[in-house]
Amino acid sequence: MLHFDDIVFGPIFSRRLGSSLGVNLLPSKGKLCNFDCVYCECGWNKDGIAERVFPRLEEVKAALEEKMSKAASEGVPVDSITFSGNGEPTMNPDFPEIIDVTLELRDRYFPDAKVSVLSNATLIGRPAVAEALMKVDNPILKIDASSDSLIAQINKPVGRYRLDEVVEAMMKFEGRFVLQTMFLKSPDFDTAEPDALEKWMEIVRKVKPREIMVYTIDRETPDKSLAKYTVEEMTAFVQPLIDEGFRIQIRG
Ligand code: SF4
Repeated sequence: MLHFDDIVFGPIFSRRLGSSLGVNLLPSKGKLCNFDCVYCECGWNKDGIAERVFPRLEEVKAALEEKMSKAASEGVPVDSITFSGNGEPTMNPDFPEIIDVTLELRDRYFPDAKVSVLSNATLIGRPAVAEALMKVDNPILKIDASSDSLIAQINKPVGRYRLDEVVEAMMKFEGRFVLQTMFLKSPDFDTAEPDALEKWMEIVRKVKPREIMVYTIDRETPDKSLAKYTVEEMTAFVQPLIDEGFRIQIRG
């Protein structure tokens, strides 16, 4: 399974993001998340480490500054800075302050770089987390399914999760976010069966993201019974939203 040992890694080059720095705000040796998604590239929570030691603001700041000043002095470009890593970045207690220092460093070293945060949206009901996410260029927020029961099967929340509360908190972003949704099926569920799909589209119409990223399983997953969808199938699923004018990226 994929794990990030450093707080800041890269720059890694990809066609989609260009030259990208990654930031991991979770413990370095294993996964820690308040979801335990069946498709998580970092494996199951139970196989992670027991200690909950988050990198703190000063450590993250020093690691980012070191990478960025080195890249700047060597003439290496940085086009994007992406928070993802071994779990849910907003669980880091210093997340709001870390976003502030990241934006300051970005403005100093690479003012054109875009800051993205991949979040499962579980904590967007906390004002400080929501405010921090609204400051970055690309808050990428996850909703994979349209009911609490389906989410219990796919994302396996650790602790309290209510989809209606997340939807309400997402509406406060007033469309300034990217919605990310994984389509997948297994012998036990199918996130794209007609009723579930219609309910998901109702959520999309309510939260009105400025863009939607739909994708399917790609790398190795901890649950081996999962099956993916093709780009053609996913395009057909979201066609009504495309027709209504939503911007949708579809990745197979
Ligand atoms: S939200 Fe992300 S990190 Fe957390 S379990 Fe799901 S895929 Fe893994």
